[in-house]
Amino acid sequence: MTDQKRRDRRDRRERTRSQRLPFVICYLSFVILFSSCAIRPTFRTVVVDPGHGGHDPGATQRGVLPEKVWTLDLAYRLKNRLEQAGFTVVMTRTTDVFIPLENRVLISNSQPDVIFVSLHFNSIPKREIQGLETYYDTNRSAKLAAKVQQSILQLPGAFDRRVKTAPYYVIRYNTNPAILVEGGFLSNPVESRRIASPSYRDALADQIYAGIVAYRGRTPLQEHAAANTATR
Ligand SMILES: [Zn+2]
Repeated sequence: MTDQKRRDRRDRRERTRSQRLPFVICYLSFVILFSSCAIRPTFRTVVVDPGHGGHDPGATQRGVLPEKVWTLDLAYRLKNRLEQAGFTVVMTRTTDVFIPLENRVLISNSQPDVIFVSLHFNSIPKREIQGLETYYDTNRSAKLAAKVQQSILQLPGAFDRRVKTAPYYVIRYNTNPAILVEGGFLSNPVESRRIASPSYRDALADQIYAGIVAYRGRTPLQEHAAANTATR
């Protein structure tokens, strides 16, 4: 083969390669786009974390039971909803005991495909402050936080204090999607009366549950139907 022929052949190869490049880039971006759309959370286990407990009462307010009582009560209500829909629920505490934050996180981090939902009620010296807020810390938890906040705002009289980020230990060191829900202010007279009502705590558990299944891309009805088919 002459040098000229070799050069021609190499030039042709270069040209085809450079012509192909935009197509390859285009194809790859489609693959990335569609695969990210197709990824839906697959978790079937929810770690429910009732805030505080034992010697840590959480928020305290005169005339109202401490936060640790309400978070545990709400956790059981949420657990029931989730189990009815076929989810496995792991509670970080089931009684009035103190569980260090590291241990709560370990319960979540020891499992690969779970979500972590920490339950709290707020308190602040300014008694007029009210509302519901959901915290997350890492990007992997942003969508879960958004879905749950959107859902709890359906509660009658709910005031939106929005989705926020904060480096709370239980969500910062979690390797799974992890959120912290503040279900109202014990320091606000209207909200503390609401929190003390079992029907509010039921409704709040329902809406947190609905937010969790919305994050999985389902409605509560679809989730319930799927659970019934699975057990048949
Ligand atoms: Zn708290």
